[in-house]
Amino acid sequence: MPEIAANLSLEPYLHLSSNEASVEIYSLQAKFKRWHQGLRMLAVSKEKKLKSLNTSYLHQIRQFADFVHQAPAGICVLGGDDFIFESLNPAYQQLFPDRILLGRPILQAVPELELQNTLQSFRHVYLTGETYKGNEEQRLVARVAGGELEERFFNFTCQARFNEQQQINGLMVCVFDVTGFVTARREVQLAEAHSREMFDSIRQIAFTMDPTGRLTFVNQRWKDFTGLDFDRDRDNIWNLTMHPDELQSLSNKFAGLLESCTGGEFEFRKKRHDGVFLWHLCCLHPILDVSGKILFWMGTSTDIEVLKRGQQQKDDFMNIASHELKTPLTSLKVSLQLMDERKENMPDLLRAKLMKRASSSLDKVVNLVEDLLNVGKFNQGHFELNSTRFNVYKHVKSWASEIEATSQLNISFTGQKSLCVFADAKWIEQAVINILNNAIKYAPLSRSIEIDILGQLDFVKITISDHGPGIASETIPLLFDRYYRVGNTNYESTGLGIGLYICSEIVKRHGGEIGVYSELKMGTSFWFTIPLNELSLKC
Ligand code: ADP
Repeated sequence: MPEIAANLSLEPYLHLSSNEASVEIYSLQAKFKRWHQGLRMLAVSKEKKLKSLNTSYLHQIRQFADFVHQAPAGICVLGGDDFIFESLNPAYQQLFPDRILLGRPILQAVPELELQNTLQSFRHVYLTGETYKGNEEQRLVARVAGGELEERFFNFTCQARFNEQQQINGLMVCVFDVTGFVTARREVQLAEAHSREMFDSIRQIAFTMDPTGRLTFVNQRWKDFTGLDFDRDRDNIWNLTMHPDELQSLSNKFAGLLESCTGGEFEFRKKRHDGVFLWHLCCLHPILDVSGKILFWMGTSTDIEVLKRGQQQKDDFMNIASHELKTPLTSLKVSLQLMDERKENMPDLLRAKLMKRASSSLDKVVNLVEDLLNVGKFNQGHFELNSTRFNVYKHVKSWASEIEATSQLNISFTGQKSLCVFADAKWIEQAVINILNNAIKYAPLSRSIEIDILGQLDFVKITISDHGPGIASETIPLLFDRYYRVGNTNYESTGLGIGLYICSEIVKRHGGEIGVYSELKMGTSFWFTIPLNELSLKC
C-alpha cells in the first residue's frame, strides 16, 4: 500500500511513451489486483479470528455467569454510593429468601443493617478501594422482611468495582452464612467447658489418653497433685509419676487392656509434687468406635493411701494383738501347769509366787480385752458417762498409789488439793492409769513421776510428767490416733496403740482437751483438762 501510494504521483511517468505507459499501467494494475486480493484475504482472516475470539469470549462470560449462579457463596454487585443491588446470585437471595433485593438500595432492602458495622465497612471500601474481609462477623438480621431479628454470623469479602476510568462505581460482595458452624462450635466449646468444670470439681484425678496411652487431657486435681506441666511432661508421664517398682507390671497390664479393648483397675504408687509416693487406685475405661476400635481412654485415679495404711494397720494390729495376748496367756498356762504337776508337794511360797504370776497374766489379758472392748464402744458410740462429784487430788492419789505399789515408781504431787470435778471417775481413772502405764512402759528408766493438778477458771488441768526418752516432734500429732504406735514393728516393747486413743476419747466425751509436751531426751508431760461447771463445787 505505501508503495502504491508513493506511485500515485504522475511525475515519474511523464517521460514515458504511450506504449511504455500502457505496459506500466498493466503492471500497476496487476500489482493492485494482487494487493487488493491480499488485503481481502487479510480482512477475511481477521474477521474470522475476531469472530472466533468473540465466540470464546462470550463462552467464557457465559461460563462465568453459570459459575456465579451456581456458586455456594452468596455473590452480589452493589452499584453506586447507595449500594443498589444490581445483580445477585440465588445463594445470596437465599440469605434473605422472601425479600426483594434486586434494584433496591441495600438500606431499603435490609434496613436493619443500618446500625450495624456492615455499611461502615462497605463505605470504607467504596471510598478507599481497599478490600474488606469479615470473619465470623455477627449481624442481627431477619430472613423475611419485617421478620424476627436473628443472630447470624457471616464470612465475607467486599471489593471495589471500577469503571473504565478506574473510578469506583460499586462493590462486589461475596458472603458465606457460617451461623450453623459458629453455633455448633460454641455448643462444643460450652460442652467442653462444662465437662472441664465437672472434671475439675471432682476429688479424683481424671484424665483421658489416646489409644497408645499418651495423655490428652488432665483435670486440675492432676496438676495440683503431680505439680507437673502437662504440655511439657505429657510424653514422659509414666516415668515421672509411677513408682519404679510398679512401672513394668503396669505397662504389661496396660498392654493387656489394649489387646482386649477392655477397661481395668490398677493399684499403684503415684508420685506427689513433693516427691512422696501415695497409693492410688486407677480405673481405665476404653471409649470405642462403632467397629470396636479404641478411640480414647477415660481414666480416674483415687488416693487410697489412707485405706492402704488402714489395711496395713489392721494387719499389724492383728499381729500385735495376738502377740500381746499370747504372752500373758502362755505365762498363765505355764503357771497353771506347774501348779497342776506339783499340786501334792508344792511349797507354799512357790504356790504363792505362781498364783501371783498367773493372776498378773490374767490381769493383763483382762486389761487388753477391756481396752479392745472400750475401743469398740467408742466406735459404736456406746459410751455413757456416769458422772459424780469427786475430789481430783484424792482420787488420782489413790489410783497412783496402786501403781506405785506394783512398780518401782516414785509418784509425787504438786498443785491444788481441794479441787472437785463433776465427771465419770471410772473413766477418768482409766485415762490416768493409761498414761501412768505408758510412763512405766516407755520411760522405764524414769524413776520419778510428777502429777500436777491445776485449777483454772473453768477447768481443771491434770499433767503427768516423766523423765523418759521423750517423743520425736513429728510423731506427736499422731499419738492420739487409733492403733498408732511409735516404732510399730517391735512387738516386744509396745502395746496395741490404743491407750492414748482411749484417753483422748474419754477426755473429749467430758468436753475437755488432751495434749502432750515432749522433746527427745527431755521427758514427756501428758496433760488433759476436765471442764468445771456448777456441779463441780469445792470439796
Ligand atoms: P499402746 O497402747 O500401744 O501403749 P499408746 O496409744 O498408749 O499405745 O501410745 C502410743 C505411742 O506413744 C506408743 O507407741 C509410745 O511409743 C508413745 N508413748 C506413749 N507414752 C509415752 C511416754 N511416756 N514416753 C515415750 N513415748 C510414749
